Amino acid sequence: MAADLTKRRIEADRVDFLGYKVRCPFDGTTVGPRFVTREHLDVPPNPPYAATVRCPTDRELFEVLFRVSDGHAR
Ligand SMILES: [Zn+2]
Repeated sequence: MAADLTKRRIEADRVDFLGYKVRCPFDGTTVGPRFVTREHLDVPPNPPYAATVRCPTDRELFEVLFRVSDGHAR
């Protein structure tokens, strides 16, 4: 369960995610905001810092954690 969880968790730049440059860890399909199933609001102060995504190709669920990136628009 724990190993499965870490496999299903990737990190990405929020700007890349919004621009559909983040890839599914299972088949490489590019995903973005329209594939988000749920957003997590558990990391204060500003949402969202993570999102649960369902890949449109293989239907796998995984979590995208947004890296804090300086120099990018928030
Ligand atoms: Zn996939």
